Amino acid sequence: YNKYALFQWPTFAEMYILGEKLGKGASSVVKHAIHRKTNQHVAVKLITKGKASCLGMKDHRSEIACLRTLHHPHIVNLIDYFDEEEDAYVVLELVNGGELFKYMKRHGPFCEAETKHIVKQLLDAVIYCHERNIVHRDIKPENILYTRDEDTGKLSIKLADFGFATSVRGDNLSRVCGTEGYMAPEMIRRQTYGTLVDVWSIGIITYCLLFGFFPEIDMNGNVHFDVEQNISASAIECVEEMLAMEPSKRSTAKEVLSHPWFANKPPRSTGRK
Ligand code: ADP
Ligand code: MG
Repeated sequence: YNKYALFQWPTFAEMYILGEKLGKGASSVVKHAIHRKTNQHVAVKLITKGKASCLGMKDHRSEIACLRTLHHPHIVNLIDYFDEEEDAYVVLELVNGGELFKYMKRHGPFCEAETKHIVKQLLDAVIYCHERNIVHRDIKPENILYTRDEDTGKLSIKLADFGFATSVRGDNLSRVCGTEGYMAPEMIRRQTYGTLVDVWSIGIITYCLLFGFFPEIDMNGNVHFDVEQNISASAIECVEEMLAMEPSKRSTAKEVLSHPWFANKPPRSTGRK
């Protein structure tokens, strides 16, 4: 929005018809919308500027700046952006299934093959970001969206909500942000940090997918694994690589993906569905 502009760009309302609410975050409401001319179905993140500044939580300009540079099959695609007087509208690719969080709640623990299928896609997206020196900082199941292939039943996931994403050089970040439960220990300890905070979050999510609850981690950083759930040693080792307390001992996203757990061999039966 520029009040000195010589001509008027079409407004969001001129371009799109707003529909039902799809979701809600701490700083926005996301609604379904249809492009008037092409009938394309999209998702629109509505940011009320007054509210956003009073909450003072997320920098949506940084969100747009990051999304503009990211084009990946497992990252929600930015379609358009309208910066108007009262509100900002972030037009995004519509991801039909909704939040992975809700799917996890309905589904219960996932088998190893399903977990790998989801985590692999997530790692792919994050490796792509980290290679471009972008750290997400709020990876959690509410910010992971999915679609489900009707024929194969397989999930395809899209990483969303780049509201805390920022560019990073080494370990130069210090702002405490994200979501309790998924926050890396170095951030909680108020140390400077880098891209490895995302790996920690993915470790927590992987554990949650496999076990159906959050990990218990003791003072020494030992993660408790319930032996009765029959998870393979390889899966446990891979989760431990992501949940190393010391960032210097934690694997990068790329290293995690090269763990043998992700190798394409036929899954060993775990006695679970
Ligand atoms: P916030 O920054 O306020 O947390 P998000 O970007 O996480 O906002 O969006 C809030 C919620 O809206 C998400 O958790 C999800 O339920 C829904 N949502 C966001 N983007 C999309 C999308 N592209 N397609 C479908 N639903 C979406
Ligand atoms: Mg969110």
